[in-house]
Amino acid sequence: LRDEVGRMERLSLVGQMAASITHEIRNPMAVIRGFVQLIQERSPKNQQEYFRIVMEELDRANMIISDFLSLAQNRALKMEVSSLHDIINELIPLLNADSNLRGQSIEVSLCRDMPLLMLNDREIKQMLLNLARNGMEAMDGKGVLRISTSLMSDKIELRIADEGVGINPDKMKHLFEPFFTTKSHGTGLGLPLCLSIAERHNGRIDVESTEGEGTTFIVTFFLPKAPLCK
Ligand code: ADP
Ligand code: MG
Repeated sequence: LRDEVGRMERLSLVGQMAASITHEIRNPMAVIRGFVQLIQERSPKNQQEYFRIVMEELDRANMIISDFLSLAQNRALKMEVSSLHDIINELIPLLNADSNLRGQSIEVSLCRDMPLLMLNDREIKQMLLNLARNGMEAMDGKGVLRISTSLMSDKIELRIADEGVGINPDKMKHLFEPFFTTKSHGTGLGLPLCLSIAERHNGRIDVESTEGEGTTFIVTFFLPKAPLCK
């Protein structure tokens, strides 16, 4: 009986997820359909603009699908002995380019003697990118995004700190809920995905925020009992 209940619960969860993703994908689809129709009917002078919107909405639908898949594929990860600092360093050129385009900058400060961890590099990159992009998006115009690591006796803390709008307590409650977004082009899947990645690494995510000053996301990784080597 217990198995049957578990199966029913999983099925209803799948149903709920399917319903929400259907809803989310329909929005960009409706926009694309509308603009393609406009282009077809009027071959208007705003054609370039309409094509741009169509492309943007296609990208958005794509993003929803790929974030959603990563979130849904909650399968056993391939973990490898890995350096968190190597992963961060590999991402810096990409983050720098992104932040320069926005007129912002990035400061990175990494602790000394970072021990190796069991990580899935691809997922850690995905998590870092999501947190960093959120930070940049929270800063209207100028601002510094600070990425830092610190080593404690039993854990490592990775901080992504922005000087953005901050998060009020009302929003804070919904932050990690799938599809919660305050952006016109958001998917609301970034943070739930980050949380599930952190949890798959037996880690956690905490948030500190002051409205009007900025937000810091803190990802905690717990150290292995015995030191790892490559
Ligand atoms: P998305 O970025 O697509 O909106 P996320 O799950 O990444 O989805 O984030 C959900 C919401 O949480 C955002 O829409 C925003 O309102 C809020 N948020 C996330 N990160 C920050 C941040 N660094 N500063 C302020 N608000 C944030
Ligand atoms: Mg996001």
